[in-house]
Amino acid sequence: MVDLVSQYKKIKIEVDAAVIEVMETAAFINGKVVRHFQRCLEKYLGIKHVILCGNGTDALQLALMALDLQAGDEVITTSFTFIATAEVIALLKLRPVLVDVLPDTYNIDPKAIEKAITSKTKAIIPVHLFGQTADIHSILKIAKKYHLFVVEDNAQAIGADYTCPESGNAKKAGTFGDIGCTSFFPSKNLGAYGDGGAVFTNDDVLAAKLKMLANHGMKVRYYHDYVGINSRLDSIQAAILNIKLRYLDEYSAARQKAATFYNDAFAHHQKIISPKTATFTTHVFHQYTLVLKGIDREGLMQHLASKGIASAVYYPVPLHLQKAYRDKRYKIGDFPVTEMLSASVVSLPIHTEMTLEMQQEIVQAVLEFVN
Ligand SMILES: *Cc1c(COP(=O)(O)O)cnc(C)c1O
Repeated sequence: MVDLVSQYKKIKIEVDAAVIEVMETAAFINGKVVRHFQRCLEKYLGIKHVILCGNGTDALQLALMALDLQAGDEVITTSFTFIATAEVIALLKLRPVLVDVLPDTYNIDPKAIEKAITSKTKAIIPVHLFGQTADIHSILKIAKKYHLFVVEDNAQAIGADYTCPESGNAKKAGTFGDIGCTSFFPSKNLGAYGDGGAVFTNDDVLAAKLKMLANHGMKVRYYHDYVGINSRLDSIQAAILNIKLRYLDEYSAARQKAATFYNDAFAHHQKIISPKTATFTTHVFHQYTLVLKGIDREGLMQHLASKGIASAVYYPVPLHLQKAYRDKRYKIGDFPVTEMLSASVVSLPIHTEMTLEMQQEIVQAVLEFVN
């Protein structure tokens, strides 16, 4: 699905030198390169505070820990996402309240959010799925009306630009809510060579608390004000990410070019619905995901595999139908769009190193099976 080896080869000289420098100074934890990456990411995102942490799941957990929620408080999120989003809610003894997504963008449906609000609702976690932002404008309006926190799961859309339809102001995805979260998992759009994550906020008080929570709840060493966790980005990953951050816009452009090629190739096909980009956001195509209408998905994937072409289903089981998250509140049929998507989506390879030949071959293989 991705080609991280070819990508590395192009930046090998820079990356190798940066990694060796960390090793030669042995500043593996909290080296000055960590602080440097933090500052560069703050600048890139146009946000006041970035707090680096161990992975994207920790980032979501830290965000919820910082909001002073009580056991049983409800947090609304989408049923069509990676499990981490709901997992952290459940782990903190909060109540995940799931809602459906929109059929064109696969992102959380703001109308469904508003319907799901109760007196116990405290926060909304929109996921900017596959690389474009959810309808943040509508979500922030709802949050304001009902006094809810917004934590953005931006693990898949780092670098996307969102333009407010009212003010016309453009900002980076993940910087609108109270807290934004991202992941530097290797296959993410800004991927490390191991695990990593970050939370971001413009709020000074939240930033100070997040920083302490990620460091055992302490500010002064061995004095613990909160029950925290240990979650940090190590210096080697920070050194690598700092180099890759400089290429992020170029990487996004390469993904967009590949997506445009696919879109054109599938444009007039009745049984293949290509991904739509909402008007208020750019799309950085963490995934290129098609909806298949009346096509045998397993058969198509096997056909592609027989030609050495990867494909994947994100995500085959909606959260409300996952074994660990079964709940008498939910049953099959509750979220028809999510369920339709889980049954019919397929993602094709998309990454920074795609060539025209590769894409032609993939498109040809898909059409061969479908036609
Ligand atoms: C990858 C991902 C995460 C978790 O990130 P990790 O770094 O793997 O913990 C959370 N949410 C979404 C939507 C993701 O895609």
